[in-house]
Amino acid sequence: MLDLQNKRKYLKSAESFKASLRDDRTVIYQGQVVEDVTTHFSTAGGISQVAEIYEEQFSGEHDDILTYVRPDGYLASSAYMPPRNKEDLALRRRAITYVSQKTWGTHCRNLDMIASFTVGMMGYRPTFRKKCPEYAENITEYHDYAERNSLYLSEAIVDPQGYRARTHGTDLNLPPPDRAVMRINKQNAEGIWISGVKGVGTVAPQSNEIFVGSLFPAAPNESFWAYVPADAPGVKIFCREIVSQPHASAYDHPLISKGEEAEAMVVFDNVFIPRWRIMAANVPELANAGFFSLWTSYSHWYTLVRLETKADLYAGLAKVIMEVLGLEGIPVVRQRVSEIVQLAEILKGMCIASIETAEMSEGDILLPGPNALAAGRVFAMEKLPRVLHLLRELCGQGLILRFNEKDLATDAAFGQKFSWFLDTQSVGAREKNLLMNLVWDVAASEHSTRALVFEEQHALSEPLLRDNLVLDYDYRESTSLIRRMVGLNAK
Ligand SMILES: Cc1cc2nc3c(=O)[nH]c(=O)nc-3n(C[C@H](O)[C@H](O)[C@H](O)COP(=O)(O)OP(=O)(O)OC[C@H]3O[C@@H](n4cnc5c(N)ncnc54)[C@H](O)[C@@H]3O)c2cc1C
Repeated sequence: MLDLQNKRKYLKSAESFKASLRDDRTVIYQGQVVEDVTTHFSTAGGISQVAEIYEEQFSGEHDDILTYVRPDGYLASSAYMPPRNKEDLALRRRAITYVSQKTWGTHCRNLDMIASFTVGMMGYRPTFRKKCPEYAENITEYHDYAERNSLYLSEAIVDPQGYRARTHGTDLNLPPPDRAVMRINKQNAEGIWISGVKGVGTVAPQSNEIFVGSLFPAAPNESFWAYVPADAPGVKIFCREIVSQPHASAYDHPLISKGEEAEAMVVFDNVFIPRWRIMAANVPELANAGFFSLWTSYSHWYTLVRLETKADLYAGLAKVIMEVLGLEGIPVVRQRVSEIVQLAEILKGMCIASIETAEMSEGDILLPGPNALAAGRVFAMEKLPRVLHLLRELCGQGLILRFNEKDLATDAAFGQKFSWFLDTQSVGAREKNLLMNLVWDVAASEHSTRALVFEEQHALSEPLLRDNLVLDYDYRESTSLIRRMVGLNAK
C-alpha cells in the first residue's frame, strides 16, 4: 500500500546524493587518487550543481516538471518518466530547459541525460527481446531500479584513440593485450566479467553508475550493454585536466567558478557484472550505429532541448550586451545579433516540430520526430561556433579588458577611481565588468571551448546526423510530383 507519508521516498536530497558518491570508487586526477569526489576541486563543483537539482526534486519545489507520479503512486524524477503522449514530452521539454538554464547548458550530461537511455531502451525492448531474449527483461527492471534509487548515470561507449583498443584497430584474432578492445573475458549463469578501456565517460567520476558497451563490436564477445557501479572492483576512472576555475570568485567567473562536468577515461579490469545489470550480450547486431541511434534518439532529443535552451540564453545575452554597451541603435550590430536570434528561433521551432511529429515506438514510448531532431541538431552544430564568435565580437575590448573589483577601486586620473572610466550609460563599471566576465565564461574561456567540442563530438556525430537526414526525409510527395510534372517515367 502507498505510504503517503513517504511519497518522496525514491527521491534524493542534495546531501543523500553526495553521500551516494562517497563510496569505494577509484578516481585519479593527475596521478593522485581522489579520496572524495564530493570535496576534490576537480569534481566537487559539478557535483554540487547536480545536487542542487536533486534537492529541488526532493523538496518538491518544482514538482510540476521535475517529478512525476509512478504507476505505484510514488514520486520519481521526471528524467525517468516514459513519455506516452505529447503532454509528457512537453513536460520533459520544460524540465530539461529548467535544468539546463542553471549551467548555461554546459552540463551536457546532467542528471536527466543518461537516465533517458533507460527509457529509450524500453522503447525498443521488443527488438532487444527478439535478438537477445536472455537479458531483455532486465531493461524494464533496471529502469525501475535506477528510478527508485534516483541514480545519476554516465555512459562510456567510445573507444580510446590508442589503436589496440579500437574495434577496427587490430586483427580480430590477436589475443589481449595486443588486441585490447573491451571484451567479455568470462561468463556464467551469474553474469559476465569484462576488461578494456573506454575513451570518454563524461561525468563518470561524478555519477553513481556507468553505462558501458561498444559500438560496432567485431565479435560476439566484444558485444554487450550493461550498467556498472562507478565503485565496482576493477573500475578505475582517470579524469582529464579541469577547465573551470573552482577557486575563483563568483564575480570574476560567474559561471565557471561553479565547477564543471568532468570527462574521464574509464578502465575496466576484469569487472564482474551480475546478470540483472546486463541489457544485452553476445549480439553485435544490437550495437550497430543504426540501431543505437534509434534507441538513443530520446537522449538526442534531450540534447536538442538543451541546445534550444543555450541558444535562447545566447540571444538574451546578446540583448543585454547591446543594452549595456549602448549598441542597440546600430543597424549593423543588430544584423549580427539577428544570427543569434535565428538560431534560437529555429531550435525552438525544431523542438516544437519534434514533439508534433513524435511517433509511438514498438515498445510504447512516444519518441520525438527523428527528422526535426536531426535537422535541429545539425543546424546547431553548424551555427554554434559562429554564435560564440558573434557574442565575443559584440563585446569589443570589454571582453579582454576585465578587472578585479580591487582594480576598479584604485585611484586613476582626474581624482577619480579606475571604475569612473568604465561606467556605461546604463550600468556602473562594476556591473559592466561583471557582464563581460560572464561573456568570457560563456563564450571565450577554456570551459566554453570544452562545451563547444562536446556539442561537436559527442555521440552521433554530424556526418551520421546528416546521413540520417538524407535517408529518413519523407520525399514521397515531392518526388512523385516532380516525376509527374515532367513525365519522368521509370524504365
Ligand atoms: C567533450 C566530449 C565528451 C564526450 N563524452 C562522451 C561520453 O560521455 N561517452 C562516450 O562514450 N563518448 C563520449 N565522447 C566521445 C565522442 O563520442 C567521440 O569523441 C566522437 O564520437 C568521435 O570519436 P573519436 O573522438 O574517437 O574521434 P576519431 O575517431 O579519432 O576521429 C577524429 C575526427 O575524425 C572524424 N572522423 C573519424 N572517422 C570518420 C568517418 N568515418 N567519417 C567522418 N568523420 C570521421 C571524427 O568525427 C573526428 O572529428 C565525448 C567526446 C568529447 C570530445
